[in-house]
Amino acid sequence: MPAEQHKFKFNFKYFDIHCHAYEYSLNEIEYFLNNKILIFSVSEDLESIKKNLEISKNYNLPIFVGFHPWNSEKISKNDINFLNKIIKFENIVGIGEIGLDKVFGKNFEKQKEIFIEQLKIAKEYDLAINVHSLKTLKEVIDLVIKFDIKKVNFHWVNYSSYLEEIKNLGYFCSFNITIKNKENHKKALEVLDIKNILTESDGPYEYKNIKMSSIDVIEVVKEISNFYKIKEEKLIRQLKRNLKNFIKL
Ligand SMILES: [Zn+2]
Repeated sequence: MPAEQHKFKFNFKYFDIHCHAYEYSLNEIEYFLNNKILIFSVSEDLESIKKNLEISKNYNLPIFVGFHPWNSEKISKNDINFLNKIIKFENIVGIGEIGLDKVFGKNFEKQKEIFIEQLKIAKEYDLAINVHSLKTLKEVIDLVIKFDIKKVNFHWVNYSSYLEEIKNLGYFCSFNITIKNKENHKKALEVLDIKNILTESDGPYEYKNIKMSSIDVIEVVKEISNFYKIKEEKLIRQLKRNLKNFIKL
């Protein structure tokens, strides 16, 4: 295989770095792929990890595996062992959706414990992480620095004073369709550099009566290109470079 050809052998134009593909129908997944969107499914628990492994094998798609902070209380030592066991499967490009949540998450100490266990695996296998950091940006940044994680994507972040630090550390932030109506996200784009940006959907999550979907990334690219006043084609090339800096394709 020539060096420049990535192992997923898929000639994509757009990508969705954070969706929950195990909740999509197969028709939906095929629709995204037909629209040249490379989707990266994250996981949240044991069941979604197993479903993602299936999807990944069937469509040769990259996936993230891991335990969501909302599920921390249910996660046992056995589950962490399972993660360790499957982590070398070649289509796994990172660990996610992992992180901390002070709004909807319970038992913050347990969340931290499970997050740290997964950071250790990311470090050991040199994997990227896809992070959920609701009202916990400071804590997450401190931990990823402490565990020396080099490739981090902060998914669906709002503007905050910590974005400057994220930029300086060379980490990434992914934006979804909510960028259209939220000034807050535009403010985030203002602080960040174009090199820190990735596109995502968080589909099929439902937010304020909108069912988010991987097809949204086409619109997200338009929004970002308008914001930075650069041509879409040029932005797409930059986003692909960012993606390659984030994960090994
Ligand atoms: Zn998510």
